Amino acid sequence: MDYQDVVGQVLSAVKPHIGAGQVADYIPDLARVDPNQFGFAIATVDGQVYSDGDVDVPFAIESISKVFALALVLPKRDTKIWDRVRREPSGLAFNDLIQLEVENGIPRNPFINPGAIVTTDQLLADTGDAVAAMRALLRAETGNPHLEVDSVTAESELRTGDRNRAIAYLMASFGNMVNPVDLALDHYFRQCSFSITCAELAKVGLIIARHGLRVDGSRLLEEGDTRHIIALMATCGTYDEAGNFAYRVGLPIKSGVGGGMLAIVPGICSVATWGPGLDPKGNSATGALALETFAQVSGLAVF
Ligand code: GLU
Repeated sequence: MDYQDVVGQVLSAVKPHIGAGQVADYIPDLARVDPNQFGFAIATVDGQVYSDGDVDVPFAIESISKVFALALVLPKRDTKIWDRVRREPSGLAFNDLIQLEVENGIPRNPFINPGAIVTTDQLLADTGDAVAAMRALLRAETGNPHLEVDSVTAESELRTGDRNRAIAYLMASFGNMVNPVDLALDHYFRQCSFSITCAELAKVGLIIARHGLRVDGSRLLEEGDTRHIIALMATCGTYDEAGNFAYRVGLPIKSGVGGGMLAIVPGICSVATWGPGLDPKGNSATGALALETFAQVSGLAVF
């Protein structure tokens, strides 16, 4: 496969649409991002990166961090994470509260906000510092020792995070938080605010594409755990549009409201896109088009 040619074809297809969608504005710091940017990167399991566009511009990782928080929690076998969060699509917005109340404070899956808050709460309990655990992982896999939380984004999330606060306190009322709520939320907000580039994101995604192996060859995840993460990405990774993405793209994907998207072709490559404008469900408008084009051109869709 000529991956650089694939990247070129994706860029040509997306170019007329750069700037499409609306940047997220419920987190004020994200509203300041210039929507006229786009990057696309493929990292193959042998460590090569093929990319074009704004692939070295940092953006907020947001919900894509939820994949890596889960990857850090799953190896701890005595952690009963699946008693605290289920594995079903929610069919609702990522920050919905009503289903959580009806279902006794047990979130539907780890990729909607309540499930991610529970996962970060668990990572905090397991490690004593969820953000430090995430930082160490992201730095090691990207090779960037300066990769860091953007404190302005984190402060913006903290200041406007009342809905996430409501979610976390509701779960606490059902006994589904182990740390003090504000402490767990502080880690969650900062975890979402890691500043990462498209090329770096593709490299971190290789942990999943390599069935759990890290860049140094050590094992983070058992193959079974990786399979579970991939299944959750495919069924729950693109907000309330996972069915449509399975249909249109045919790859496991996780997106974030910062406009990033991460797709995995198991055993072959990790693909990252970034375009800040979102569709009404919260997925990057140009990212969706890029991944659809990638799947068509490469023939690498898994279903
Ligand atoms: N930090 C964001 C929030 O909690 C993440 C949302 C997302 O990317 O889906 O609302």
